[in-house]
Amino acid sequence: MLKHLKSVKDPRHKSYIEYESDIILFSMLMKNACSIYSMSNMTEQFNKDECIKNIANVLGYETLEELPHHDTINNFLCGLKPEEIEKIRDYMIKQLFKKRSLESYRLLNKYWCIAIDATGLFSFSERHCEHCLKKEYKDKETGEVKKTVYYHNVLEAKLVVGDMVFSVATEFIENEDENVSKQDCEINAFKRLAVKLKSKYPRLPICILGDSLYACEPVFEICSNNKWKYLIRFKEGRIKSIAKDFSVLKEIEGNKNKSCTWINDIVYNQRSVNLIETEIEDEANDKKCYVFITDIRITKRNADEIMCFGRSRWKIENQGFNNQKTKKYNVEHANSLNYNAMKNHYLITQLADILRQLYEKGVDKIRDLKKSIKEISSSLLESFRTRLLTNTEDTLNTEKRIQIRFG
Ligand SMILES: [Zn+2]
Repeated sequence: MLKHLKSVKDPRHKSYIEYESDIILFSMLMKNACSIYSMSNMTEQFNKDECIKNIANVLGYETLEELPHHDTINNFLCGLKPEEIEKIRDYMIKQLFKKRSLESYRLLNKYWCIAIDATGLFSFSERHCEHCLKKEYKDKETGEVKKTVYYHNVLEAKLVVGDMVFSVATEFIENEDENVSKQDCEINAFKRLAVKLKSKYPRLPICILGDSLYACEPVFEICSNNKWKYLIRFKEGRIKSIAKDFSVLKEIEGNKNKSCTWINDIVYNQRSVNLIETEIEDEANDKKCYVFITDIRITKRNADEIMCFGRSRWKIENQGFNNQKTKKYNVEHANSLNYNAMKNHYLITQLADILRQLYEKGVDKIRDLKKSIKEISSSLLESFRTRLLTNTEDTLNTEKRIQIRFG
């Protein structure tokens, strides 16, 4: 992976390069992995001999006197094309697939589940750039605009593997320019995201997981054109004819097992869809009904597994985005106001999150310690900035050196 940090297409003029791209990107990955939110705090924390030596050691530099100043880093990220960071992520994810260690997480031993979800990143009270989305809050009686908010959202495709969720493709929800007649929206962004996903992973058997917004014809069509399956939360209001057919048919000829009821082959447009329903008690003992729509044929054998994977999408909200916002990386903190740099900061966070999850969940000894996110962040930071990494027998108090290798 490290050689990929070095081989990004550097936007800077050669004669101005003081720090190679791998030093900048690796520092930024560690900033995120250690849950350091601000750029100035990173400079402060990492500015220690041991830490500088560790970075030099990992990247194979014989000498490194200092680390780049955060302005240097931001200047680099202002010019760097976001695709360059996406390419590094593609490499990481492809290596994970190649190692075949995630095989047991496939749905029905076949499909890789990819959850689609949007989240808010930044909002401003004044226009921030020409691509901002805009929302006006009006007075109900007079129609007068009381407040205008400018904001940026992002749409993610996240691979769900057990209790880990890895970002595999990103599409920013943004207007083309200030004067668009219709603003960009989640479904439009999904159309672009789907093109990206297909071109990155043309033969991967994928099942798309989504919330009820995605239960609509354009999404069904994209999935069938790409030879993907879908498993999407279904709410009554989204497609009325399907909801009606399901409620009638399940009473007459519903298939059942202990926990689920389902109907295959409900006709909709030119296609047939399958619906599955379950009732689950939440923590307050209230019964909650979950319905999913899918083009996978539901049988007695696979019903429970399909339901379980459908519900796993909520992980992206609970563990994915919420952790990224509040506990791990504070993705809503703008490290730079330059829109291109903002995108790069966000993408670097997604890379760091893959590494961080493999570290938290993939290393038995760390998982068994059952430390909180905060504790892991602070012990990682402390060891990184105060203890020298060595190439020989490790100084960690484990018998074997822990390595997470990418290629
Ligand atoms: Zn903007």
